[in-house]
Amino acid sequence: MTPARRIAVEEAFVTEDIVKEWARALAAPRVEPGFKMMGQTMLGDSPGALEVKGRLLDIGDGRIAYMDQHGIDVQILSMTAPGVQVFDAATGSSLATSANDQLISAIAKHPDRLAGLATVAPQSPAKAANELSRIAGQAGMKGLIINSHTRGQYLDDRKFWPILEAAQALKLPLYLHPREPSPAMVRPYLQYGLYFAGWGFAAEAGLHAMRLIMSGTFDRFPRLKVVLGHMGEAIPFWLQRIDNRYLLQVKIGAVSKLQRLPSEYFLENFVITTSGVTSAPALKLSIENLGVERVLFAADYPYESIAEAVDFLDHVELEAEARAIIYSRNAERVFGLAGMERSSTSENG
Ligand code: MN
Repeated sequence: MTPARRIAVEEAFVTEDIVKEWARALAAPRVEPGFKMMGQTMLGDSPGALEVKGRLLDIGDGRIAYMDQHGIDVQILSMTAPGVQVFDAATGSSLATSANDQLISAIAKHPDRLAGLATVAPQSPAKAANELSRIAGQAGMKGLIINSHTRGQYLDDRKFWPILEAAQALKLPLYLHPREPSPAMVRPYLQYGLYFAGWGFAAEAGLHAMRLIMSGTFDRFPRLKVVLGHMGEAIPFWLQRIDNRYLLQVKIGAVSKLQRLPSEYFLENFVITTSGVTSAPALKLSIENLGVERVLFAADYPYESIAEAVDFLDHVELEAEARAIIYSRNAERVFGLAGMERSSTSENG
């Protein structure tokens, strides 16, 4: 039997001009505390950080060679955190447009291997919505990424509705990717490395997803599709309790009633990916709680090892059908990749 194509859907890149602008923003007198911490570590100049930066900047042949080496057929590329969301609105919008143009050209060189998610600057919601209309017609552009909070603000705020409206209308899934916690919540995360991806990222992105659910955003945008990485940022684990406490809060008048239960929005409007998680129990719980049709493969290159991600999903106890669904079929459905076939068939026999 032909093995399933491996489509990895949370694979990061950055542009030279955004790296330069990060350095400028980090040198400014007032910097968001979480971003400042990132500037001293992940975005800094240690040998490890520089290696990652080199890989982020390569959206050409080097990346394709790395994908070949590890058996990845397709990467869906997206702007790494915090992307343009730490800049002023004008700078953010213009760097987003240029990043999208660079991504579109990279995809054009390898249309059977790369797809992409648009970068937008939520700081300027109207421009962000226009940018989505602009990229929606471009080959290989299959959604958008937002790296969680934008200068402390979350997408349930109605100022961001034009972005959600455009995403829904254009059928572009929104990848809600983590970054360090927002200024209002980051203080206790600044010690012990907790601002980072081991805990703070999931706390931030999980909160963001829960704000979308609990604010009734999906009553307004019922066809908006949101993608969460890292096995759903822990939400699948909590889903039963989230409903349970929501019902009590409705009963005591602490929140107003939504049209549906929180878990129903999660099942209707979200899918999750395996990025950075190689735990069989976590995968099993997610499949049991959400259904295999809501779990997509991702490697989280270059922050995580593609080899480990592939080794995990190749060997974790799953029926062949379920493995193929997670490796490729869900991604084909959610991101509309069905027509994207490899022109060379020499590697898969
Ligand atoms: Mn990631």
